[in-house]
Amino acid sequence: MTKSFFCTFFLLFHLVCATDTYTLSSDESLVIDETDFGYHLRASSSLSLAEIPAYAENSSILDTNESSILLSVNKGSFIRTKRLDAKHVEITVHDESEKSDYFTVLLDAGHGGHDPGALSQSGMFEKDVTLDFVKLISESLLKHRGVNLMYTRINDTTLSKYDRLKIILDAQPDLVISVHADASTSNLPSGFGVFVLDQNKSASMRSIKLLEPFDGVPNYTDSTGYANAIIKQLKNKVKLHADVAKTAPLVVLRAPGIPSMLLELGFLSNADEAKLLANKSYLKTLSIEVAHAIMQKHWAA
Ligand SMILES: [Zn+2]
Repeated sequence: MTKSFFCTFFLLFHLVCATDTYTLSSDESLVIDETDFGYHLRASSSLSLAEIPAYAENSSILDTNESSILLSVNKGSFIRTKRLDAKHVEITVHDESEKSDYFTVLLDAGHGGHDPGALSQSGMFEKDVTLDFVKLISESLLKHRGVNLMYTRINDTTLSKYDRLKIILDAQPDLVISVHADASTSNLPSGFGVFVLDQNKSASMRSIKLLEPFDGVPNYTDSTGYANAIIKQLKNKVKLHADVAKTAPLVVLRAPGIPSMLLELGFLSNADEAKLLANKSYLKTLSIEVAHAIMQKHWAA
């Protein structure tokens, strides 16, 4: 059942909206209110896109031509927004029953804020590389049909690994991709790598507390399936650190039932690779290949 409405609004004052459940006249506008249950929509005399968190002015990530966010609307419903061009944003409200029609990918840009991560010799921080890549792979994933994106961070904020796991558990996405760049004490190691959860190492007490309300075990089969699909796609195209997925006892990969992997884009400690990771067109190409591998694996399932 589609209890959805479709609405395109013009950023400056004007609003046109055709809907089966909401009809707003041209001098009204749409405001999204935050409540204890998430967000809800109401007609109002003022409109500010800044009230939609993901469209706040400092959120450069959704400043792209085609972006989409997923927010819950009251209980059981959700809204989907898509920037059509510089002046139009499409918002649709959907029933929970439609959620399965979408493939929701949660992108976790590693580090951020007070935690810069690794540092290259040229002065580039890992936290910036990871956010750059998350922006680029957002564009690449949204080129595929039926994709919804969620994020742990879309700007330079500090998040602990437990904050990230909590966001993942609350969001219950279909796939988690955590993005990092590697560093070594030697300047020799290089190459792209993928990690899935090491199941043999037990979780910390803090993780166990977060995981308590959730049933099930980490989805090792699908996590490895996605990881292998990416490695296969990148083989002979970019330098790989290893041609198999590696395992590590990482907190962000522990969500029960949700395929989760961590990408190491390359080594910032290797001067040549740091140069590559600073190159947006390299990151863009990498993001297109990774997105392609993910979507192929998703639709093949
Ligand atoms: Zn890292």
